[in-house]
Amino acid sequence: MSNIINKALHGIHVPHHKNTHECETVTMSPPNQVTIVMSQHMGPPCEVQVKVGDEVDVGETIGDSAAFLSAPIHSSVSGTVKNITDVLMPNGNRTPAVVIEADGKQTLFSGIEPPKVKDKDSFIAAVKASGLVGLGGAGFPSHIKFNPKQPVDCLIINAAECEPYITSDYRTVMEETQNLFDGIGYIMRYVGMNNCIIGIEDNKPKAIEKLSGMLPDGVSVVSLKADYPKGAEKVLIYETTGRIVPEGKLPSDVGVIVVNVTSAVFLARYMKDGVPLISKRVTVDGGAVKTPQNVNALIGTSIKDLIEFCGGYKSEPKKLLYGGPMMGLAVYDDSYPILKNTNAIVAFDKSQVEMYAETACIRCGRCVRACPLNLMPLRIDDCYNRNDIEGLRAHKVNLCMECGCCSYSCPAKRHLVQTHRLAKAKLPKV
Ligand code: SF4
Ligand code: SF4
Repeated sequence: MSNIINKALHGIHVPHHKNTHECETVTMSPPNQVTIVMSQHMGPPCEVQVKVGDEVDVGETIGDSAAFLSAPIHSSVSGTVKNITDVLMPNGNRTPAVVIEADGKQTLFSGIEPPKVKDKDSFIAAVKASGLVGLGGAGFPSHIKFNPKQPVDCLIINAAECEPYITSDYRTVMEETQNLFDGIGYIMRYVGMNNCIIGIEDNKPKAIEKLSGMLPDGVSVVSLKADYPKGAEKVLIYETTGRIVPEGKLPSDVGVIVVNVTSAVFLARYMKDGVPLISKRVTVDGGAVKTPQNVNALIGTSIKDLIEFCGGYKSEPKKLLYGGPMMGLAVYDDSYPILKNTNAIVAFDKSQVEMYAETACIRCGRCVRACPLNLMPLRIDDCYNRNDIEGLRAHKVNLCMECGCCSYSCPAKRHLVQTHRLAKAKLPKV
């Protein structure tokens, strides 16, 4: 184990609240119904491949697209297609969705078998067929990531789960360590890399010890200071290799590929059994949940069913989040389904949700000091409020990764992240 560099980007310390760290994952039985949305990746939504009344099996393709940036979507249950509808997602986008009534039998689709992989091309084809997308949050189709135009020499495994409350990646590392190394092996072999670094924060000593005791050749562990946002892609690349991803460039432009632990583990399982991406390990936590825990849930399961599996609500949820409190997306209805990249559902009760009124900026500069990307959040806020598009461009709002460090640090409680999201939407698309 080694620390490659000592320099750290800006960031902040947030309370970890890793309440479910030691909770072994439990598997939820299939719900009576799943709603599988056709937009679970970066890129255009898939087209629905089934019609109402069709019988489908587990792992059968129900959505696909000819678009370059896309990944197929599979049924997570066996049963009957009850409805094909449009769902208004919390991000404001409407997307088609397939509603399937489960028959409880979980019959596996007859065509499912381990993929026959012998070289890079067959590996990329297998990854595409699996429906794998970046499971750390971004949903970037993995078959594109694993086929970079530029030569890459380093695989970085993102085990830095820096969002408060979320422990699903940690449990993945602890419970599926061998699968993690197997997944790393497949990626290194077929993408063509000899070097892999697992970046993990130092608040996970048991995982660091376990990983360090099983390291194959070419793989090392880098222990990172547990501050936020260590798991952000550009931050992690810098902190593990010292390389800086320039504006407008991809990690592959600096010779690296970053893969979340959950994606690597899924890949290992898929290479062994051929079952595409139909389930997800999800942390369920927050003061409004009776029994916080990590749950293996089928994709398409409603938040409501998932929370009922965790004992139900113990009090009325005041705020419900897809993800953690720093970067999670608020949902206003627990009928929303679990998606491929859902890693947590957090339901805060009244005592955990503080409402503050914004006050005027006092030019303290804390937001600037907190920003890992050296942006100037106060200036962006100001340009947005004056509708100064050139100013927004000059202050590079497009680079903002919406990590929330600025808002968290602001004594005036300026709604900086929200402003930055709206500001990015104002910039003309190029
Ligand atoms: S939300 Fe954007 S501006 Fe604010 S700290 Fe994060 S990257 Fe910087
Ligand atoms: S932290 Fe808040 S008050 Fe301080 S400079 Fe930034 S926006 Fe202004």
